[in-house]
Amino acid sequence: EAKRTGRGRHARFHGALEASARYRRLIETDLREAIARRELFLHYQPIVRAEDGATVGYEALLRWHHPVRGPISPLDFIPVAEETGMIDEIGTFVLHEACREASRWTSDRTIAVNLSPAQFRSSALAAQVAAALAASGLPAGRLELEITESVLLDASSNNLALLRQLKQLGTRIALDDFGTGYSSLSYLCTFRFDKIKIDRSFIREICDSREALAVVQAITGLSRSLGIATTAEGVESAEQAACLRREGCTQLQGYLYGRPVPADALPERAGAPIRLEA
Ligand code: C2E
Ligand code: MG
Ligand code: MG
Ligand code: MG
Repeated sequence: EAKRTGRGRHARFHGALEASARYRRLIETDLREAIARRELFLHYQPIVRAEDGATVGYEALLRWHHPVRGPISPLDFIPVAEETGMIDEIGTFVLHEACREASRWTSDRTIAVNLSPAQFRSSALAAQVAAALAASGLPAGRLELEITESVLLDASSNNLALLRQLKQLGTRIALDDFGTGYSSLSYLCTFRFDKIKIDRSFIREICDSREALAVVQAITGLSRSLGIATTAEGVESAEQAACLRREGCTQLQGYLYGRPVPADALPERAGAPIRLEA
């Protein structure tokens, strides 16, 4: 009986693995075509000043509309892009697209772009960012690059040097998803970040969990002492926002202020000159 149960369990597990491997292969094959077919595009989500709710910038979030499967989450296809090396081409597309978009806005709001740790494998990363800035004419100070701590995890790599090159260009650097993973405080001494983004998992619990609140208090307190801005991710309710304001969090982002939307839905496009296609 035990044996049968065990085998059954194994069979099901094996099936799930096969299915996910198959899914990955499908994604991989189709992703190779996706850029050329213009299936990848960006959505933009506002980031507001905690004080008064004024929009200070937008985060660019990658979207893939598959012709047959419909929308596929970046959480599903970015890992495949990272494993296969396609992340370089995709990352370059995102940088160029986001900078070009922000350069045509009627405001001087910032644009935040997510960088995968896998993009740091290329020593040309800073040159790629510089090229996107030059091609679009966007001032470097309006570009914010979001990285996760895993970029700094591998002490033997030259990622820190690459990060300093990016900073040298004049871009701002934000530490994304802070509070998850290792969240070693030593990273905050190793590199001078311009901003810490507090992970959504803490914001979700902030009104109900003393522990989540304590973590948020620790992060905002530390950031204040270090002179670093903080953005709370995933703010969905006015109660969460009030609590974050009380803790001195400087910026808020989440569905309460706006979902990620296509570029042509942004208010900064309103007065933009109409482009005549040749
Ligand atoms: P992230 O950089 O932490 O982005 C925030 C995620 O939270 C986004 O999910 C956003 O849509 C979602 N979000 C924002 N406000 C709320 C809220 O109030 N409630 C909830 N439940 N969710 C909210 P999304 O767009 O699915 O992206 C997921 C992750 O995929 C991103 O997390 C980022 O790590 C990655 N990603 C997205 N675009 C890119 C990209 O262009 N390049 C790279 N390398 N990674 C990207
Ligand atoms: Mg991000
Ligand atoms: Mg984040
Ligand atoms: Mg997050």
